[in-house]
Amino acid sequence: MSEAPLVMKFGGTSVGGGAEFVRAAQIAAGAAESGPVAAVVSAMSGTTDALLGMTARTSTATTGGVLDRHLAAARHAVSGRFLPQVESWLRELAARLDRTLRSPNGSAAAHRDAVAGFGERFSAAVLAGALCSLGVPARVADDPIATDASFGGAAVDAAATRRRAARCVWPVLDGGAVAVVPGYVGRAPDGSITTLGRGGSDLSATALGRALGSREVWILTDVSGVFDADPDLVPEAAPVSGLSYREAAAFARLGAKVLHPKTMQPAAASGMEILVKNTFDLGAPGTRISAREGAPGVRCIGLRRGLSLERLPAAGSRSVFCVLGADSGSVRALVEAPDGGVAVVAGIGAPADGDLLCGIRALEAAGIHPLWAGSTTAGLTFAVPDGAAVEAVRVLHRELVRACLVEEVA
Ligand code: ADP
Ligand code: ASP
Ligand code: MG
Repeated sequence: MSEAPLVMKFGGTSVGGGAEFVRAAQIAAGAAESGPVAAVVSAMSGTTDALLGMTARTSTATTGGVLDRHLAAARHAVSGRFLPQVESWLRELAARLDRTLRSPNGSAAAHRDAVAGFGERFSAAVLAGALCSLGVPARVADDPIATDASFGGAAVDAAATRRRAARCVWPVLDGGAVAVVPGYVGRAPDGSITTLGRGGSDLSATALGRALGSREVWILTDVSGVFDADPDLVPEAAPVSGLSYREAAAFARLGAKVLHPKTMQPAAASGMEILVKNTFDLGAPGTRISAREGAPGVRCIGLRRGLSLERLPAAGSRSVFCVLGADSGSVRALVEAPDGGVAVVAGIGAPADGDLLCGIRALEAAGIHPLWAGSTTAGLTFAVPDGAAVEAVRVLHRELVRACLVEEVA
């Protein structure tokens, strides 16, 4: 058996069109010069939504449209020598997709997964062709991830995944080729197609890495790492150089969309490190996620909006809401139900003693009155009226993350 591969996962925008497929193939080809590579690939951006829209009959997308988009990408990224083969794979996939859409098998949820998973198969065919065009042997290795039968968000079975990977991925690697693995999809014990949930290709990558004994998984995306707050909400947000598995998992559950929340589980279980890097700026250092717990301090600010409120009969006009504690061990708090709902803003990392008070003061100074504040398993947690959520993220980012960085540098 050859040495364990580097697993590289390319997200939807990293394979968003012909030029992006070329770039992704060049990155995988570069890595393949120094050792074996397994490339996990997402669907081209927007494809999964289109496929799900087709099952719900809510979109105007068609199989022909999906096929055309991939044919166009292939014509850009795949050389004349390999193009006929890739085109024939794509047409075959489109025919299978049509058959699946016409004759659903099993429950509605099973049907949705069977259709949704096609996006990754289409993009795997194009990426394999793009790699071959660069002179790097590559083969699609379908469905190594074994799961339970929970359609729409299946749980990975580590032992069965190792067995499946031994059958479908190792032979490709041992043959000296890059194994191109469609992300997001898995197989239930009865062989039906499952999916790992939206954004699940990140989890495919670490689950595969664990099965193959990899030491490192690269998540290649469209930003230069995990930012210390959602860059779409906080213009000053910046990439964090390192996070522990615990911190990254808490952050992913609280809005850091760049990683599927379960991504860290297989990595933590096997000690494999995750490097989040920008496909379009490979020189940027990115974020390394490992077992190392860093220095004391809040490293990033997470947000969850739209928490459910329940009114307790004994509580008069007050409502109870779930504050948080990752997905379990939630804190419940009694509050006056604000109009518009409650959001939770969390300072993730290793908060220092004064950070809670400092956060509360900064919010008050900005005219935001926390409904509740305290420590939960997610970190420092501030419950605020939903209407003030984004401003609260900005204030806490400035006060607890940036101010501390400035202190460290000074
Ligand atoms: P991919 O298609 O590569 O899986 P995603 O769209 O799933 O990429 O995730 C990357 C996006 O996540 C970024 O473009 C950014 O808009 C969003 N995002 C939200 N919060 C964060 C964060 N804390 N750090 C980095 N990106 C974030
Ligand atoms: N293509 C899937 C999605 O859009 C999985 C992924 O991109 O990770 O959710
Ligand atoms: Mg993603």
